[in-house]
Amino acid sequence: MDKKILEKYMKAGKIAAEVREASKELVKPGASLLGIAEELEKIILEKGAEIAFPINISLNDAAAHYTPYKGETTVIRKDDIVKIDIGVHIDGYIGDTAYTAGWNEKHNKLIEASQKALEAAIEMCRPGVNVSDIGAKVEEVIEGYGFRPISNLTGHGLEKNNLHAEPQIPNTKNSRSHELAEDQVIAIEPFATNGAGHVKDSEPTLIYALFRPVLVRSPAARDIINYAASRNGLPFAERWLPLDSRIKIKLALRELTLQNAVYGYPVLKEAAGGMISQAEHTIIVRDEPIVTTKM
Ligand code: MN
Ligand code: MN
Repeated sequence: MDKKILEKYMKAGKIAAEVREASKELVKPGASLLGIAEELEKIILEKGAEIAFPINISLNDAAAHYTPYKGETTVIRKDDIVKIDIGVHIDGYIGDTAYTAGWNEKHNKLIEASQKALEAAIEMCRPGVNVSDIGAKVEEVIEGYGFRPISNLTGHGLEKNNLHAEPQIPNTKNSRSHELAEDQVIAIEPFATNGAGHVKDSEPTLIYALFRPVLVRSPAARDIINYAASRNGLPFAERWLPLDSRIKIKLALRELTLQNAVYGYPVLKEAAGGMISQAEHTIIVRDEPIVTTKM
């Protein structure tokens, strides 16, 4: 890997880790989701990095893709289990990391299951290892805790300005065959649940990305296209859009989605309503794997 690119991956990963650690002071019962997201996104920028995707704060049976909307007043409750997912980039080179917080000890085993699965998977991120063997290991560790992995969520490759590059890194045994190569950058993210073991698209959709710019007549839609294009293909939050009226934003986003100009990332919820935990690190594949998002 080019030395300059490696430095950018390392810097992005370090800042993502610092933001993750800073978040542990903010994420607690009584704290507002909007306040947490805004503060963490501010910290990313203050540290001289850019935001790779909106801070995801997904509660309980939501696995991913929840980010607060403008004016949201939801606060964390002490029985919640909260996934915080942070994406930072330097010139498009991304660090992606997540963890799960909980305050009721009934969640402890579920939180530990995804963490330990991640630790076991990281050890395997060496050249020549088949991603299906990583999935089998993740599944084995999570099942050892008496839970199920979420089978239709996977880890992924990372490339410049591309958050979900090949290969997918499964969280279960499967027949997908792909050997990791030296210097490949990947994010591994086991999800554990006491539910059915898969997620489904749910309401609402609060995160979007540009698919293809189209000519549109409405000024609001045009503003959104321009804003989306400034993200270099990376996702953005509805609440970031520089428009006053949430109703106008929603109408324009619906129009743009129908035209395939943007696509949404709906909130992903456990199919049987189970609780979900997640743990994630970004790794550079080496004989000694480099965890860029480790503190
Ligand atoms: Mn993530
Ligand atoms: Mn990820």
